[in-house]
Amino acid sequence: DELVSQIAAGEVVERPASVVRELVDNALDAGATSITVRLLAGGVRLITVEDDGCGIPREELPIALRRHATSKIRNLHDLESVATMGFRGEALAAIASVSEMAVLSRPQDQDTAYMLDARSGELRPAARNPGTTMEVKELFFSTPARRKFLKTDATELAHCIEAVRRHALTRPSVGFAIWHEGKLVEQWRATLGAADLDAAPDAETREQLVQQALDKRLADVLGHDFLEQSVVVHYRAGHVLVRGRAGVPNAARARADQQFCYVNGRFVRDKVLTHAARAAYEDVLHGNRQPVYALYVSIDPMRVDVNVHPTKIEVRFRDSREVHQAVLHGVENALAAPRA
Ligand code: ADP
Ligand code: MG
Repeated sequence: DELVSQIAAGEVVERPASVVRELVDNALDAGATSITVRLLAGGVRLITVEDDGCGIPREELPIALRRHATSKIRNLHDLESVATMGFRGEALAAIASVSEMAVLSRPQDQDTAYMLDARSGELRPAARNPGTTMEVKELFFSTPARRKFLKTDATELAHCIEAVRRHALTRPSVGFAIWHEGKLVEQWRATLGAADLDAAPDAETREQLVQQALDKRLADVLGHDFLEQSVVVHYRAGHVLVRGRAGVPNAARARADQQFCYVNGRFVRDKVLTHAARAAYEDVLHGNRQPVYALYVSIDPMRVDVNVHPTKIEVRFRDSREVHQAVLHGVENALAAPRA
C-alpha cells in the first residue's frame, strides 16, 4: 500500500505548492474561516497549514491518513457528489508517503487536541484551540530523484503563494495568511461572514454583498488597480451562470498568470474557458497582451466531470459548446457595456 501511495503521490504531489493546495482545500472543506500557511525553504523543509475548521476526532486521526479514507461520503446521497466533486481521500495518504507528516487536531466538542505522527503512528495529547494543523516536513526526503526536480526556494515559494491565491480568490469569506521563514508574506482578510448574508433582507441585497466581498478580495489579491481597470461580468445562459471581473484591455498590468477560472468554486485550467475568454477579447485586445480576469462559472454539477485528473484541476463539460458560448457572451457583453 505504501508503494501504491507513493505512485499516487507522483500524480498528486509534484512540489510543495501541490501540498499547500490539497491542505488548504481540506481546511476549506472543514469549514475554516481562517487559514494560516507557514513555510520554510519554499515549503521543501516545512509546510504547516492551520485552520479553525471542524477538526478530526481522536479516533479518526489514523484513518484520515489512509488511502481512500474520506469523511466526505457518509451516505448514498453523497455518492452523487463524489461523482461530481471528486472526493476520494487520496491526498493525505499521498502526501504522508513522501514526507514526514504530523496531524494535530481538536474538534469543537473535544477537550484536548491530539497529535498523530504519521511515520511512527504515535498518538498523544497536545495543546490546541479547536481546528486542525497539518505539518509536512522534508518533502520527497525518501525520493531524492523527485527532490532534485524542485527549483529554488524563491520559485517554490512563489508557486505556494499562487496555490493559496487561487483558493483565496474564490473564498472571500475566509481569511488567509502566508508566512515564510517567520515573515508574513501575504495576508488577505475575510470580507464577508455567513452572519452578514443571513442578515440580508432579500436576494438582491445578498447578491450585492457577495459582489462587494468578491471585489474586495479581488482588489486585495490582484491589486487595487484591477478593480478600477475591470468590468463586472454577470451573465446567465441556459444551464450556465458566469460571474466575475474582466480587466479592460489597456490595463497596465497584464501578465500571463493573471487569468483565473473557476467551476463551481474550484480553480480549473480549461481550454474551453480560456479560449472563450480570449475570443471575447479578440477585437478589443491590441497586440499580444494578456487579458486579466477572474471568471466564476456555476453549472449543474451533473453537467461537469471533475474526475479527469487527480488534482481536479481539469474538467470535462457535458456540453462544452454551451459553456463556451456563455463565457464568450458574458465577457463580450461586459467589455462592450459602458463603464460605470
Ligand atoms: P478528501 O479531502 O478527498 O476526503 P484527503 O486525503 O484530502 O481526502 O483527506 C482525508 C480526510 O481527512 C478528509 O475526508 C477529512 O475527513 C480529513 N481531513 C483532512 N484535512 C482536514 C482538516 N483540515 N480538517 C478536518 N478534517 C480534515
Ligand atoms: Mg482533500
